[in-house]
Amino acid sequence: MKQLRNIILVITTLFIIAGCTHKTPYTNRSQMIFMSSEEELALGEQSYKQALSQAKVVNNTYDSKRVKAIGEKIAAAANRPDFKWEFNLVENTAMNAFCLPGGKVVVYTGILKAAKNDAQLATVMSHEVAHALARHGAERVSSSKIQQGIQLLGNVVLATTAPEFTNTFNQAYGIGTELGVMLPYGRLQESEADEIGIYLMAKAGYNPYEALNFWKNMSDGKESTNEFFSTHPSSETRIEDIKNVITKMERK
Ligand SMILES: [Zn+2]
Repeated sequence: MKQLRNIILVITTLFIIAGCTHKTPYTNRSQMIFMSSEEELALGEQSYKQALSQAKVVNNTYDSKRVKAIGEKIAAAANRPDFKWEFNLVENTAMNAFCLPGGKVVVYTGILKAAKNDAQLATVMSHEVAHALARHGAERVSSSKIQQGIQLLGNVVLATTAPEFTNTFNQAYGIGTELGVMLPYGRLQESEADEIGIYLMAKAGYNPYEALNFWKNMSDGKESTNEFFSTHPSSETRIEDIKNVITKMERK
């Protein structure tokens, strides 16, 4: 009897895992996500409102208009009509930027020091948008669930269906500060966001070679950019990897 129960548990688990396998856009990597897109978008919306309510949003300046104009072009390249895109510049000396699920992009004024022209600003915005398109936040939450063990599976299934269980996800996302900024992205997700970001910025009409200059500027001022690099691991080979992506793209 116990054996039968175990078999049923294993089969159910496999079905659930099979049902949660997704593919990243552009890079086509398989990923395991235990969260529906709808849920992810709703959480993104909620956290965005919270993050903005705590921030000093810059309106109607040259730079805030630039952020919006560049954002619109990236959004057109991303081709996600289900996203409700918004692009905000926030007064904050930290060199940082993020994009919440659903296309809520926030750029800190601090990062303008490293983004010296439109194409360089498009680099970091495309990179952040790429994290959202590839659902890296939901993937991080899901993999931490897998690591916590199979006994949690029941809770995970409930979490994707019952709103009262979304608290688990809120904690994992670090809501209360800024969604997606609490858990660092993994190296794989990071280089994937670099790659997808390059495709997006090129499609949006920006010179992808400016990405090399942007990342060089970012690492030049590394001490002051710790906030960005605490959640976006920097790779020694990042610039080389991006050069390879551009070469691959130009061959197509
Ligand atoms: Zn990143």
